[in-house]
Amino acid sequence: MDDKFDSTVTRSTPSADQPVPELSADLLARYAGPCPRYTSYPTADRFVPMSGSASGDQPWAALQDVETLSLYVHIPFCRSLCYFCACNKIITRQYGLASSYLDNVLKEAQWYRERVARAPVVQLHLGGGTPTFLNDGDLRRLVEGLGEIFDLRTGDDVEYSIEADPRVLESETLDTLRDLGFNRLSLGIQDFNPEVQRAINRICSPEQVQALTEGARERGFGSISYDLIYGLPGQNVASLEKTIDKVLELAPDRIALYHYAHLPERFKAQRLIDSDLMPSPSEKIAMQLAASRRLTEAGYVFLGMDHFARPDDEMARAAAEGRLARNFQGYTLMPADALVGLGASAISYSRDGYWQNHHSLKEYAGAIAGPGEAICRGWQLSADDRLRQWLIMELMCHLRVDKREVEARTGQSFSQGFRAELARLQPMFADGLLGQSDSELYVTERGRWFLRNAAAAFDVYLHGAEQTARYSRVL
Ligand code: SF4
Repeated sequence: MDDKFDSTVTRSTPSADQPVPELSADLLARYAGPCPRYTSYPTADRFVPMSGSASGDQPWAALQDVETLSLYVHIPFCRSLCYFCACNKIITRQYGLASSYLDNVLKEAQWYRERVARAPVVQLHLGGGTPTFLNDGDLRRLVEGLGEIFDLRTGDDVEYSIEADPRVLESETLDTLRDLGFNRLSLGIQDFNPEVQRAINRICSPEQVQALTEGARERGFGSISYDLIYGLPGQNVASLEKTIDKVLELAPDRIALYHYAHLPERFKAQRLIDSDLMPSPSEKIAMQLAASRRLTEAGYVFLGMDHFARPDDEMARAAAEGRLARNFQGYTLMPADALVGLGASAISYSRDGYWQNHHSLKEYAGAIAGPGEAICRGWQLSADDRLRQWLIMELMCHLRVDKREVEARTGQSFSQGFRAELARLQPMFADGLLGQSDSELYVTERGRWFLRNAAAAFDVYLHGAEQTARYSRVL
């Protein structure tokens, strides 16, 4: 037990008036090992081969009776390589590639025309790669093309978002995006320090970001979020605090503060990073503590894991009211009955399971030219998967699990049914990160930093013979 804390266990509800608990480096270090992020359960690395032409019950059959739908489009192109990147992307300056890729995405969308109920699209997300690699004409062609197949809406009742690289986003494109119904903008900042930017090959001035942030606000984007990364080469506590101070001046509605996982043996781009510039594990922990403290002292609400929001942002309100959900883009306010993912490597889901497209552009294009879909793997959920999926999402989004609901679902007492899981969680109970009563298992205020660790205890696939080393470290 960490002697920095008393043993009082307080149930957690993210809110502005709730102080964010102090953490010690020792506690963070103990839970810093590799762990999935649980944007899905089972995690995508468990998927098995699956084909779009397979007969019988396939998870996409459930698209026929959805009442709300999410759409995701993966745009894999980027103009230059950021050395920290672990995404599925193609570095190119040849715009023609993007144009023909878009033809394929729209063709793939046609495959869903007969398979999905005409349900309102409550969420549209363009991710990448760099979605703003597309020129305004192609952004319009994409959204209008999707609108011919799916029931796209505009307004405050929908969440249409795009991941934007501030280096590749013109203010005219903000007009186009608003006109197409986009109301959320996510800007990849990472760090403002020039030396860090040089070390990761991603040069972007605070002035560029400021102009885009102000431009997006003037045009009525309801929420602007920044992605920041700690643990990058050349970063230290002082430099990161300066970045955070600049971020606080710009006051984005939401902030994701991600940990950089340096895995050069797995991601080729990361071999371009000078390993001598990498901060040590203890420096990374110090950075995480300093940055989080700075954000929360400035009034941001810590939602859990690595997400922060201004107290007046809908995400912070939703967290306080227990309305958060989670999907492949992280926390969301508008969970739909199903998600259709289009493009190379995109993942879809329905209540019955997951399915994923070919990863490489070549295989994706080849599949679309053939059967018109590119599904290569996926997962059909069993009853046990569904229970654990629900339980993990409850923990990660609502910070509690209602034991009586589990008992009603399984006909077995929680402590009997999850004996092994509760044993795995003992250190978290002892460290005051989790608590329980007769009726619930809950995350404490301090435990919000360790949601992945708590969820992992219920992941039945993680506790077989396989190792966890391929997952990114928590810190
Ligand atoms: S970090 Fe983003 S912009 Fe940079 S290479 Fe990766 S996907 Fe492209």
